[in-house]
Amino acid sequence: MSETEEVERSSDDGDGDDRLTYREWAAALREGTLLGQECSKCGHVTAAPKAACAQCGDREISTTKLDTEGEVHSVTTIAVPPERFEGDYQVALVDLGAGRVLARIDGGRETVEIGDRVQFTNAMEADGHPAPVFEPTEG
Ligand SMILES: [Zn+2]
Repeated sequence: MSETEEVERSSDDGDGDDRLTYREWAAALREGTLLGQECSKCGHVTAAPKAACAQCGDREISTTKLDTEGEVHSVTTIAVPPERFEGDYQVALVDLGAGRVLARIDGGRETVEIGDRVQFTNAMEADGHPAPVFEPTEG
């Protein structure tokens, strides 16, 4: 599965508007903070910048900081890695409680399965875009 999140790209940096832009999201991610958006109407949280709530379509959404630890909701092994990556790697949808984030798994030789606990470690640059990297937690 190579589904990519559609991101809202905006040339402005969000002045006078608290809506999270892709640029802000990416900058925060590179600094080790996972940002998401919470809908003020239905409370739905998304882990990537969107123009409107994915659940109800409302545009009253505010930036929220996401937890850095969660549980693997689904996982896919990518057998043909892009340049600069060696061997297979896993991409997982991580359930952070409030929302879910698509992340790369860096478990060394370990692989994760659905239900495993993982934690956010850093961001990985792929094709010029940062992607959150999670690794299995101890135990
Ligand atoms: Zn909503």
